[in-house]
Amino acid sequence: MSQSVVRLKHADRLYIGGEWLPPSTDRRFEIVHPGTADIRLSVPEAREADMDRAVSSAREAFDHGAWPRMSLSERCACMLHWADMLDARAEDLAVAYTTEIGATIRSTRQNMAYMSSLIRHGVKLAEAFAFEEEMPVPGGKAVVTKEPVGVVAAIVPWNFPAHLGLIKMVPALIVGCTMVVKPSPEAPLDMILMAECADLAGFPKGVLSIVQADRDVGDRLIRDLRVDKVSFTGSTAAGRHIGAVCMDRVARVSLELGGKSPAIILDDAPMEAVVPRLVRMSTLISGQACMSLTRVLVSEAKAPALEEALAAAYAAIRIGDPFDETIDMGPLINARQRDRVEGYVATGTRQGARIATGGRRPTGLDAGFFFEPTVFAGVTNDMTIAQEEIFGPVISVIRYRDEGDAVALANDTPYGLNAAIFTEDADRFRDMAGRIRAGTVAQNALGPQINMPFGGFKQSGIGREGGVEAFELYTEVKVIYQAA
Ligand code: NAD
Repeated sequence: MSQSVVRLKHADRLYIGGEWLPPSTDRRFEIVHPGTADIRLSVPEAREADMDRAVSSAREAFDHGAWPRMSLSERCACMLHWADMLDARAEDLAVAYTTEIGATIRSTRQNMAYMSSLIRHGVKLAEAFAFEEEMPVPGGKAVVTKEPVGVVAAIVPWNFPAHLGLIKMVPALIVGCTMVVKPSPEAPLDMILMAECADLAGFPKGVLSIVQADRDVGDRLIRDLRVDKVSFTGSTAAGRHIGAVCMDRVARVSLELGGKSPAIILDDAPMEAVVPRLVRMSTLISGQACMSLTRVLVSEAKAPALEEALAAAYAAIRIGDPFDETIDMGPLINARQRDRVEGYVATGTRQGARIATGGRRPTGLDAGFFFEPTVFAGVTNDMTIAQEEIFGPVISVIRYRDEGDAVALANDTPYGLNAAIFTEDADRFRDMAGRIRAGTVAQNALGPQINMPFGGFKQSGIGREGGVEAFELYTEVKVIYQAA
């Protein structure tokens, strides 16, 4: 297995309010590489006193600092500088991500190369966003303004921290908010590198803190009355709790949560086009992606052929050292996640589903947290594996009777994040897309695109990140009536 090195400039400090400060305790998070299960490095753990300091500096910077009072173009210039810094560290970001998550270095390099474009897109969208609109009213005019919401706490999960952190930081910072970002203990490295880049971009003191902490300290953050808005991405269970805490103190909150996304295969869709897309959209980051297409809905007539083709394609996936450029899929992030996936596979079998391929730890890869890509056939939508988010490379093939049944099955889930309909027929696609209750519906699994809004119906969340809609999450509406 490869031994790529993660280069951190401030391995013993925390990035609080734009400064690298010594942590309040000597507690540290160990970063275990999922490909080998060995500890690669450790980073400081933020505790209560560190989090308090981060919130204080964000509050001070919002209430009295320059950032919210700068012009939009001044803030955007700083953001663009940050984008340049990220470009310069793209390889470091890729190595860090593969080290902490185990995603293949091949996919990671592609992903990290576009991180800076999240900022550049955000800046372009901001130029078109209506921060102020005037309209005549009797006796004068009304000016509808969108002002920064204040101090934002951003809580980020482990599966794709750079991207998921940036889609919060970009709109929030552009509109003039100040921020405390809490990455998860499992994957703080990319966010620390983001902080190193931000440090060179010229943000005024206090504007940005990036402090890796465990959930108890995160819980303190969301309860802090000095925080105006909580932006959370993670599991539906944690999101439900965070939403309740925020509602109790009437803090603004947006939630990007889990998914159990369907792919409906209509009979006209060519199998040779469907299968590779399904494989790609269900094995990204070893299936640990919220938007994974994990329920494959197919007609009774086409099911046997699709099950066979999917099983063959899944069995051909090369699993191994994520730093090896020739492999297709790395390990799961940790032993806990692999146990969880194994538990679901056992439940699926117990409830009567049939493993068409996979279902075990691969032979010859004993050191890391590997699991075979797994296809379940003969699944019914009431089974646990069809209802709950597995967060691993496991898909279920479910048969439908007709198109109405396909739509009903697609919607028969507590989630509503992503969906795909495979067909060559544009009219049928548009008709069905209108009946699916999900934040994204894509023909033949096209997209999602970084400049478009993304988010969920039902228990997949509240609010949309990305696109112009993201600015709404970080602004308050104020109407100013001015006499003529
Ligand atoms: P998680 O809910 O366990 O944790 C997410 C983050 O929240 C972590 O930083 C964690 O430390 C923190 N956290 C948990 N409880 C908290 C609390 N009470 N107060 C403050 N912070 C708290 O999720 P995870 O296992 O890290 O990530 C996987 C989940 O994230 C999956 O369910 C996945 O679908 C979801 N996800 C959703 C999206 C989306 O855009 N909808 C994107 C990626 C991941």
